[in-house]
Amino acid sequence: MKSLIAKAFILLTCATMLSCNSKKQSIDNNADKTFSNFEGVFLDAYWKQHPSAAIAVGYGHYYEDLVIPDSTSFAGNIAFSNQWLDSLNKININQLDVNNQISFKIIKNQLESDIWYTSVFKQQEWDASIYNIASDCDNIISQPYAPLNEKLLILTKHIEHADEYYRAAFKMLHKPTKEHIAMAIGQNLGGLSVFGKALTDSIHASKLTEAEKKQLQLNIDKTVKAINGYVDALKALTTTKGVEYRDFRIGKKLFSEKFGYDLVTDFTPEQLYKNAISDKKLYTEKMYRIAGSIWDKYYQGQPQPKDSMQLIQRVLDKIQLQHVQPKDYFNYLSNQVHRLKKFIVEKDLFDFDTVTPPIKVRMMPEYARGFSLASADFTPPYLKQGSTYFNIDDLTAYDPKKAESALREYNDYSSQILAIHEAVPGHCVQGIYNNKKSPDVIRSVFQNGAMIEGWAVYTEEMMVENGWDNHSPEMEMILYKWKLRELANVIIDYDIQCLNKSKAEINHILINECFQTEAQAAEKYNRATVSQVQLCSYYAGSTAIKSLREEYKKKMGKDYSLKDFHEKFLSYGSSPVKYIRECMLK
Ligand code: ZN
Ligand code: ZN
Repeated sequence: MKSLIAKAFILLTCATMLSCNSKKQSIDNNADKTFSNFEGVFLDAYWKQHPSAAIAVGYGHYYEDLVIPDSTSFAGNIAFSNQWLDSLNKININQLDVNNQISFKIIKNQLESDIWYTSVFKQQEWDASIYNIASDCDNIISQPYAPLNEKLLILTKHIEHADEYYRAAFKMLHKPTKEHIAMAIGQNLGGLSVFGKALTDSIHASKLTEAEKKQLQLNIDKTVKAINGYVDALKALTTTKGVEYRDFRIGKKLFSEKFGYDLVTDFTPEQLYKNAISDKKLYTEKMYRIAGSIWDKYYQGQPQPKDSMQLIQRVLDKIQLQHVQPKDYFNYLSNQVHRLKKFIVEKDLFDFDTVTPPIKVRMMPEYARGFSLASADFTPPYLKQGSTYFNIDDLTAYDPKKAESALREYNDYSSQILAIHEAVPGHCVQGIYNNKKSPDVIRSVFQNGAMIEGWAVYTEEMMVENGWDNHSPEMEMILYKWKLRELANVIIDYDIQCLNKSKAEINHILINECFQTEAQAAEKYNRATVSQVQLCSYYAGSTAIKSLREEYKKKMGKDYSLKDFHEKFLSYGSSPVKYIRECMLK
């Protein structure tokens, strides 16, 4: 659960200030100074208003506050956003340098989006899973912002009104969706572990007074009771007759608005959907050609299947048998990280420092397990002393059947794409670039998910294009299988949320047209019922980056180099690609 929440924020460290218009900066220095003061005051006010968001970004203040989610507090949030929008709009954006213009737009989008989520989308009324205090409590204890004693006293205060919190949460629900109720029950029960033995042990080991220890334990007991009470109330709701539920599908209008706020792109959902469908056809044809060309290598003397999808599937079946044993998986994947670093230096793709790259490869921590074989882990933006981790799961802990099926999916080729996406030069490298240069905190706290996922996806294809694995047909085949997954994400998100397509139709796309297993299809369908638009972020971002690269190439002419493009692109932090584009093409 913690990992899900962490992923929703995709916490990266700091972003960068890079002026692409220094002449203008000196003329309008005053406006920029005023803006940077505004930024500081605004951010502190923002974290005070949204203490839970402050915890997620590691701000280190206001952690004792727990906002009771009642209609008064939601109305207060809307008033807060409106008031700050008014102040922001008093600043003349045209007098700011280009970087501050980006920050201005990011703040504006954040405030408008906050208003929309509460007053139009009204997630607080139908998504029971947004009410969960476990992850915040976990962060209050585990983040390195204060000594343990102080953190325990902060926790005591934070959970003082947990009972009120969950009572108000349940009262807020009005025609909730069944899918989010099920998720809320699972995640809240999972969150109980935060208040278990490890916490009790650290209370005992602390230097709190006996009275303080007693008070904290009292509040913890109250919190556990409140969580169980919420879960019981939700369970009772599902068995009560006559309760009205809302369809989990949000429909075209809300989808299109959410798409605008979450992704910040010039595309409409319909355009992206259309492009995804035609790209899906293109990549399937590429797979078909490759499969035909290596058929004899794997099925010598046997006739090729007439059906093109069968031909692809049967060749994939053989490629998927090429994998390491569970006990060797960790070493195999961490070795890929070394090879990838070497490759990007040899091919001159980045100015990446290979001597002391701060990517730490480690066994996946308990809380992050169960989602993927590997993941990237970042320090929250305000907590600068942390590291960037590439987590690899321990496959020897799986039962042998499950390990074998995971290894077929993450075979030798697919594992390399996974290492590119999560580590080098995907998520981990992007995180490190954010760290390296001088920070503009706005871009690291209000991150654009489409830029982050788009970058990771962009690097998969870029590496293979540049000769990773020597253009082997197997690697290209597996890359395109990843590509189909990215495209299917867009297609099924729109199909489910806007076009009301059935589970059977979705399964057909995922299993028969995109070569996913039944288990993967089931998991993806479930994800698409509880999230909206997020599945579009990978493709929305990667296509925007690719088309920016083409335009930048034209603009630079003979001075263009891929390394220069990468260095410039990553220097704008995790801003929407649309804003980076305006800056780079100016
Ligand atoms: Zn095997
Ligand atoms: Zn990713």
